[in-house]
Amino acid sequence: MGPATSTPEAIEAIIRAGADVVRLNFSHGSHAEHAARAELVRELARKAGRIVGILGDLQGPKLRIARFQDGKITLKPGDTFILDADLANDAGTQERVGLGYKELIHDVKVGDELWLDDGRIVLAIIAIQGNEIHTRAVNGGVLSNNKGLNRRGGGLSAAALTDKDREDIQVAANIGVDFLAVSFPRSADDINEARRLMVEAGGRAAIVAKMERAETMEGAIRDAIILASDVIMIARGDLGVEIGDAKLPRAQKCLISQARKLNRAVITATQMMETMTENPIPTRAEVFDVANAVIDGTDAVMLSGETATGKHPALVVKTMADICEEAENSIETRRSGHRMEERFERIDEGIAMATMYTANHMNVRAIAALTESGSTPLWMSRISSGIPIYALASSDEAARRVSMYRGVYPVKLHEPLKDPKIANRQAVELMIQEGIVETGDLVIITKGDLMGAKGGTNQLKILRVGEHQNG
Ligand code: PEP
Repeated sequence: MGPATSTPEAIEAIIRAGADVVRLNFSHGSHAEHAARAELVRELARKAGRIVGILGDLQGPKLRIARFQDGKITLKPGDTFILDADLANDAGTQERVGLGYKELIHDVKVGDELWLDDGRIVLAIIAIQGNEIHTRAVNGGVLSNNKGLNRRGGGLSAAALTDKDREDIQVAANIGVDFLAVSFPRSADDINEARRLMVEAGGRAAIVAKMERAETMEGAIRDAIILASDVIMIARGDLGVEIGDAKLPRAQKCLISQARKLNRAVITATQMMETMTENPIPTRAEVFDVANAVIDGTDAVMLSGETATGKHPALVVKTMADICEEAENSIETRRSGHRMEERFERIDEGIAMATMYTANHMNVRAIAALTESGSTPLWMSRISSGIPIYALASSDEAARRVSMYRGVYPVKLHEPLKDPKIANRQAVELMIQEGIVETGDLVIITKGDLMGAKGGTNQLKILRVGEHQNG
């Protein structure tokens, strides 16, 4: 979300066009603006009959330049330009600009390349004098306020959670965001710390680890971060700067498959439909990029500048949603041998796996998971099936949580289905009313003996709609 998605009309249009989760980027905008936008999103989603999650994205130590007196400048190749840690925040000129992250000076040396705005502008460091980093522009272009900045090759020492992030976590908790994204985590500790702060602030958001450091791409450190989080985001902008664009496709595929294997959800982000920021149609390469991420198993594809500042926010969402739907119909997305050899610890996990095995081997029309926490639909959705999983949730919170999961459709129950004896019948009636199933369809319903208890799913029932449905 951004200036192009700030009016009620624009927000309603992207929701109706298919947005399932919106991102509030704490790198931009005031607390009051984020709170007002979140309120609007919820109200307009209700009006549109949609369940839309809200993701608050912490700025993190993402190095950003400060601001310009005139909002932006234009650099030409060969121009000299100074990053000045002592310059006031709004005092940037054609010659120099301030820095959000003052410690940058200790992390870089002469000869390093700094990539700004996800590599659109590249500055080579030619000297470091006091608190000034002197650079020469390798390529030129427009440089505007607060643009991101990173060192080619990675290795920045900055801690993931800044003082601003700690304040923003409190704001995010007050807003009641459903997802909290941590920028530049270096280890699982950063994710655990963010979760602890969120809980202390009174929030219950799922934690999203933005994978954007070169050193977190491999082995134990990568897996520990994935396991500490609920969702990962492949933040291709900064990651591309750190590892080099040529290594991005392999990194993306590895991260998607590893997240799914470890039962976590995954967002693929950045420049997916970049040319639609200006144009009414995407390039064929962008169509393939979105479709390939879906075929590889991503849960979500994210738009940034396209809907934050672009000319066609609703059209780009609709175009992307259409590509996703087509890609989901592709045969490659429906095969899954995943976790067939594994052992399961938890009863609800066992039920989820049995459901998917059954669904993949019978002609099942739909799966309905009565859920309090969203964890059973998450496990189910790690297995590709092409069969819709309806998460029947009694709380708004659980309904919005599952909005991130691939192939899971939240349905908010007006009243909790309390009596296990008649819950199946009620669930089937609801699915008939919603137009999900009709007489003769085979459905699988999962639920717990103890309705309303988190993690209590212990039953799997296969029903034919229209036949005996009690119990
Ligand atoms: C990215 O770097 O790809 C990213 C998603 O981060 P942000 O949009 O927060 O800069």
